[in-house]
Amino acid sequence: MSGGSNAGAGTGHGQHDPGGADPPFGMWRLTSCPVFAMVMSLSSTFVHRLVMPLEIVQYPHPALTWKSKPVKGISPQLHECVREMFDLMYSSRGIGLAANQVALPWRLFVVNLTCDPEQKDEEFVFINPEIIRRKGSAEDEEGCLSLPEVYGHVRRADNVVVEAFDLQGIPFQVTLTDMAARVVQHETDHLDGVMFFERVSDTVRHELDPKILDFVDRFRQQQKEGTIPSDDELRERLKALEP
Ligand code: ZN
Repeated sequence: MSGGSNAGAGTGHGQHDPGGADPPFGMWRLTSCPVFAMVMSLSSTFVHRLVMPLEIVQYPHPALTWKSKPVKGISPQLHECVREMFDLMYSSRGIGLAANQVALPWRLFVVNLTCDPEQKDEEFVFINPEIIRRKGSAEDEEGCLSLPEVYGHVRRADNVVVEAFDLQGIPFQVTLTDMAARVVQHETDHLDGVMFFERVSDTVRHELDPKILDFVDRFRQQQKEGTIPSDDELRERLKALEP
């Protein structure tokens, strides 16, 4: 997710601290979750045929409509990919990035609501995330690093409970509100192959459609010119990278 046209997103949303010891954004509350106490295996062969460096792909790259597959293990290569995802996110001034936005069909995303590479303790990795509870409703503007400069209001739950694994393979459960809840829902949608514009009102969609079509035209033109492989080839690559 991009920071949106409202620069500094995440700083002015009146988040309340659900009971933690005043963490910077007030909504990251990690608790152990016995129900979710699955142990992830450590694997050094997890990442294979991986092409580095990664880059953020734009709509309508097939990775963005691909349903990501659960990560089966944590490896040094996975750590590397995550680091690279954070770096790409920062250089694009984003606050969230899903693996399929860098053409990796894995169920994981990274978040740093501050968009500040110096604030490492605000970096969160969600591996195999599941939103287990949604409450309330709020509308706010969203953007997407895979669709730069396109923004639209999306209505989403304003309080979610998420279960996931961290980069050490440790399961956690977190209750999120406001911008954090929005980002996690936006990124989880990515893992299911859903773009934010599929969740806007008909009126907004009507406004966005010409801009989205520009991206489609540009992508198809680049495929014609051979600077981007065909959809079939891109899908083959995704298939080969599935865990
Ligand atoms: Zn996005």
